[in-house]
Amino acid sequence: MKERVTGKSRILTETEAKQEEFNIEQDLRKIRGCPVCNHITNILADFFAHLQYELSNDESTRHNYAEELGLCPFHAWQLESFSSPLGIARSYPTVLEHVASILVTRAETSSRSPEKALKVVRDSATCSACHLLEKIENNYIKHLGLFLTDIDGRQAYACSHGTCLKHLEQLINAVSAPVTVRFLLLDEAERLKRISADLRNYVYKRDALRRDLLTNNEKDAYRRALIKTASGRNVYAQGDRGGSL
Ligand SMILES: [Zn+2]
Ligand SMILES: [Zn+2]
Repeated sequence: MKERVTGKSRILTETEAKQEEFNIEQDLRKIRGCPVCNHITNILADFFAHLQYELSNDESTRHNYAEELGLCPFHAWQLESFSSPLGIARSYPTVLEHVASILVTRAETSSRSPEKALKVVRDSATCSACHLLEKIENNYIKHLGLFLTDIDGRQAYACSHGTCLKHLEQLINAVSAPVTVRFLLLDEAERLKRISADLRNYVYKRDALRRDLLTNNEKDAYRRALIKTASGRNVYAQGDRGGSL
């Protein structure tokens, strides 16, 4: 019989095992956006879907979630997008009552003990989804770097859409061979120029009322320009800490 999942840490362990399941060659062939962002998005979607189900149905998961003070605001809202009002109504009383008990304890002890900062909201340094994201990201980038060490890997990468600029920075920091670094820099420069040309053609053809002549690359160039410069939608919180989460 399948063992029942009984807590947030268990969900994290299962998700971490799942994040090892990827095929870089296939990802490069299939994905029009950044393969690292795409992998993070898929694994976190699985994590949030699993977590909302367990929060809705399992008391020990609710207890764990409350003890850990939930997730950072950005990831709490991502969790919300996988939940229903009923699911949140089932999950959050435990969180609110736990925080209420912290506030009462603080009110009763604050005049007797030295003041410490009140910490009842998670930030990216203490959020388990942020930590998970960082692990997924580092692991995928490490494997992508290894994939690029041989010429076949670099050729497959050159035929793909490449990573977003944020992940290019991390990839360049992760690879050591000068030939790979040079390849990545020049490859990306060419790629950005091609997207730029597609954008200019898009504007030109729209202005000239020649929408019928637009190519598929020109039609989605705006989206690829945003992914390059701002990473996949909803992968990173605006204004979150620089580098990696
Ligand atoms: Zn990316
Ligand atoms: Zn977070």
